[in-house]
Amino acid sequence: MAAARSIFFAAAACAALAAAGAESAAAPPPAASAAARGDELRELMDHEDYARAEPIIRDALASLHGAQGLIFYKTDRLAEAVAEWETSLKLDSGNAEVKKLLDVARKELAAEKGRRREVCEHFIIQYEAGARADQIANLRAALAVVRRDACQRFLAWPAEKFTVILYSSDQYQYDLKRPSWSAADYDGKIRLRGSKILDSREELAALLTHEYAHALIFRTFGSRIPVWLNEGLAQNARPDAAPEPDALKQWNATDKKTLPAPWTLGRGFEATATGNQARAAYLESKFFVRWLLERYDIMVITRWGRELAAGKTIDQATATVFAMSADQLFSAWKESMETK
Ligand SMILES: [Zn+2]
Repeated sequence: MAAARSIFFAAAACAALAAAGAESAAAPPPAASAAARGDELRELMDHEDYARAEPIIRDALASLHGAQGLIFYKTDRLAEAVAEWETSLKLDSGNAEVKKLLDVARKELAAEKGRRREVCEHFIIQYEAGARADQIANLRAALAVVRRDACQRFLAWPAEKFTVILYSSDQYQYDLKRPSWSAADYDGKIRLRGSKILDSREELAALLTHEYAHALIFRTFGSRIPVWLNEGLAQNARPDAAPEPDALKQWNATDKKTLPAPWTLGRGFEATATGNQARAAYLESKFFVRWLLERYDIMVITRWGRELAAGKTIDQATATVFAMSADQLFSAWKESMETK
């Protein structure tokens, strides 16, 4: 049972729901095992052993409906995604990942009924029917800046439209189960908390650039990019961002001697992290990646990220791309801060 399911819903399957978001819940099928199962099935059919063939077919169908649902979900065909996942669960009722995805999609579908839907050049915007016109105008204007900045930074110009959904603070925190410190999130769609942020075009652009950057990063690296690098890149997505006095002040007050290596920061990004843990992790990943971007071309950092996303250890990837150990890279950054 589990083998066929894992073809499409491998480790990453439920990452679509995780705070870090996910692009490839439908992981590429391990060709050898898929082929082996195909051979097994042919053999069973050949011997008219239908009793053993049937569960294999059912499992494969459940996986295919699951993957098809994911494609519909990511391409803004919510009702069709729900139908596919319902079919998948009828075939394999024990798939917890599909259950979670279906739960979110159903809630979203119900909420969508009361929302306006506006299709722009690069985005589909959804908001409550009673939203203020000036705030929505700010949202449109901010998104134009977001597209320009993030695409320039990551040298990626995707043609498809991205969905941006505006939630009330309560919907965002309780229906979507996002942490209280989070203001926006990308999980295949950009989800935005509350409407207060919509009053400031500048703040809105900063927030949305970060989330749109995640979308571009997942396209470039896949969902297995380490979270600290993903967040570090997203926080530096605006090449000409206005100075951030609060972040700089907090960073200057941080004791650099006791900093953990950036690649050990994972916990701070989890939904269970406290506000302080999260702040420290975001801050360090931001300034570490900023230093990298000042020192190396984005193409070099992209190569490094791809090595890491492909499963290389931090030492292997750093040796390949930077010709030094991860410790040496970390030390070089710390030294650069001392001499500043
Ligand atoms: Zn982020």
